[in-house]
Amino acid sequence: RPYVEIDNVAMRYGGVSGTLALQNCSMNVEQGEFIAVVGPSGCGKSTLMRLASGLWPATEGNVIVAGTEVDGPLPIVGMAFQNPTLLPWRRILSNVMLPLEVVPEHRKRLRKERPQYEAKARELLRLVGLEGFDAKFPYQLSGGMQQRSSLCRALVHDPALLMLDEPFSALDVFTREELWAVMQQVWMARKPTVILVTHDLREAVYLADRVLVMSARPGRIIAERRVDLPRPRT
Ligand code: ADP
Ligand code: ADP
Repeated sequence: RPYVEIDNVAMRYGGVSGTLALQNCSMNVEQGEFIAVVGPSGCGKSTLMRLASGLWPATEGNVIVAGTEVDGPLPIVGMAFQNPTLLPWRRILSNVMLPLEVVPEHRKRLRKERPQYEAKARELLRLVGLEGFDAKFPYQLSGGMQQRSSLCRALVHDPALLMLDEPFSALDVFTREELWAVMQQVWMARKPTVILVTHDLREAVYLADRVLVMSARPGRIIAERRVDLPRPRT
């Protein structure tokens, strides 16, 4: 069965007169599949991500991940957003390692295996071009560098399910395409299930196995297209 099953979901914010963000929205994502979701601004893409990762309950319909009905934030999820959302009082390395402190099974191992985990975080920072910045604070880095750090944070606990909500959109075109290559490398190494929200069709086609198109709000999936190109795509 699919790894992520969104079945006829509706989402209304703020009670009966609130904004209807999603309606009759369904999608399936196979384990290890990389999908991209595109659609007009405000159609409910971020909302769909929040439902699929258990951050919000759906108003109607079912959200099932790994065969289980989702009823709260899932520890197997890694998330990155359009903004870096780093904690300003923590150094970059410690920001990247944050999910390890939150996910129970990692938190236990972290006490004994801190050096291995730190090496993993440093390796991710190196991959995104931030070698040597691990002891800096967020304000000492540019916006794009903070954004790259937040991508490392999304990956540090090897999430089985990765939710990427326009994590590359605010970056300059060169950095963006470098990060596509990094993302492709990470995906090919471990084959996590990835849901990427993007406005960039080139990005969608470069990275994803399948591109899903959403309607205007209330959003639902209205079309999909398989990307039949061999990887790596350069
Ligand atoms: P997208 O990510 O496609 O731009 P969103 O999922 O962010 O769309 O938003 C869908 C609709 O829901 C929009 O009309 C937005 O204003 C509304 N919305 C999003 N988040 C909230 C919230 N926390 N409270 C109330 N309305 C919200
Ligand atoms: P983006 O689509 O750029 O990722 P968001 O998903 O954060 O942006 O927000 C999309 C829309 O939802 C925006 O118009 C924003 O004003 C609205 N929105 C987001 N969060 C809330 C909230 N907590 N309350 C009301 N509106 C919200």
